[in-house]
Amino acid sequence: RFVSLEGGEGAGKTTAINAIRECLRRHGHEVVLTREPGGTPLAERIRGLVLKPDAEIAAEPLSAEAELLLVFAARAQHVRQVIQPALQRGAYVLSDRFTDSSYAYQGGGRGLDPQWIADLERRAVGLLPGLTLLLDVDVAVGRARANGRDLWPDRIESEQDDFFQRVREVFRSRAQQDPQRFALVDAGQVQERVAADVVARVERWLQQ
Ligand code: C5P
Ligand code: MG
Repeated sequence: RFVSLEGGEGAGKTTAINAIRECLRRHGHEVVLTREPGGTPLAERIRGLVLKPDAEIAAEPLSAEAELLLVFAARAQHVRQVIQPALQRGAYVLSDRFTDSSYAYQGGGRGLDPQWIADLERRAVGLLPGLTLLLDVDVAVGRARANGRDLWPDRIESEQDDFFQRVREVFRSRAQQDPQRFALVDAGQVQERVAADVVARVERWLQQ
């Protein structure tokens, strides 16, 4: 009953997630909508430190290693405070990003050893979504869409296309290696089409 949404910048995750929530509700399910990094007060605070550091913190470059551990600290808390309790009472959990994002951003993007990430996943998370929707879009197309938004995280400005190319490759290869869990959606289409594809995949998964 645990669904995650993954994808690069400007993939249309927000539109898709709202469509999935409506779909699950139509089926009469309780839906807990959450996101990463974040999802609890502490984890949201960590998100802020990583994505929107104040001037004092930003003056000190965040190392890839510290970033990985911060994201996992947030995730460990998120799993125990929000995800596990919701699943235990029979709710569906819909998370905007989960551990796959660490493999993609901290692993692919920042170049950290995926074995370390796997180890943290096993020890600190111990939970895998039943369905992961990967919204896959060309890096240039995604960047053009996301740049039009004022929500664009400050630190992203410094991240270049080759960083996002590596992020995309990791997402794609993870999807290829686990077709049972992943549904790969072409997010280069117009947003309504993307959302419709996503909902179709969720419907199919519910029927399983
Ligand atoms: O696209 P979204 O609103 O989910 O943006 C969150 C941002 O957080 C991403 O663009 C990405 O740069 C960053 N992130 C990250 N590592 C993670 C999850 C998210 O760097 N594990
Ligand atoms: Mg978003």
